[in-house]
Amino acid sequence: MGNVGAKEIPELFGPDGLRTDGRRPDELRPLKITAGPLHQADGSAFVEWGFNKVMAAVYGPREVHPRHLQENNKAIVQCRYNMAAFSVDERKRPGLDRRSQEISKVIAEAFESVIFAEEYPRTSVDVYIEVLQANAGTRCAGVVAASVALADAGIPMVDLLPAVAVGKVGGKLVLDLNKLEDNFGEADLPMALVPQSGRLVLMQMEGHMHRDELGRALDMGVAGCRGIYEKMKAALRDRYAVAPAASSEVSA
Ligand code: ADP
Repeated sequence: MGNVGAKEIPELFGPDGLRTDGRRPDELRPLKITAGPLHQADGSAFVEWGFNKVMAAVYGPREVHPRHLQENNKAIVQCRYNMAAFSVDERKRPGLDRRSQEISKVIAEAFESVIFAEEYPRTSVDVYIEVLQANAGTRCAGVVAASVALADAGIPMVDLLPAVAVGKVGGKLVLDLNKLEDNFGEADLPMALVPQSGRLVLMQMEGHMHRDELGRALDMGVAGCRGIYEKMKAALRDRYAVAPAASSEVSA
């Protein structure tokens, strides 16, 4: 155990350089994406990522509520990110707190920049993200789930939006922080990437890192996003794959 002031810091790397959960610094947590699990929604996706479990549902393009938000020349994107009261160790106070409002806003803005909103004037695309189990990285898991749900709903977009956080932990850059690393790390840098153009449409930073590290952190995050992108496409392929037609011939 290290000790900085009153804060006991656990060892975050083993003698082999691996992390507490056995990952290399540039390794993602296990990620499973299911497209279309909800039947009521126009589009949906469920993401299990490490110990995170996040459901996303998309409705629209549909009538705007409240009406005064309606835009004459494009669709608006409304997002509600919510963490269930039972999603964390100690019961979280239910409802929209400031953190949820901020995350909802940055996620809506990220999707506004990739959705072809001009095609659906005077409508709203409504994105709901429900975090059922949280273990750091839930906004990125939310973006990944919502992005697959938007594609499942058939909303035209420039591209899917993979997202991941890079952190600085014990002086080292690591991909996809777990909760322990998030608690004791020096920095947390979530980002969402438009893979085709290389544009980052969501980037936030908590903590601090040197500008040289920032460049390397972005490279690490972009590489991580490219891996996640492949899994997002695979989830959609699985959902829409047409089963081969059963042969009508019966072999003798
Ligand atoms: P992200 O989940 O995107 O990493 P934060 O960095 O704000 O967002 O939160 C890190 C983690 O801290 C969350 O994933 C969750 O496990 C935990 N957490 C966040 N808010 C609360 C809360 N109100 N109560 C308990 N745990 C929380």
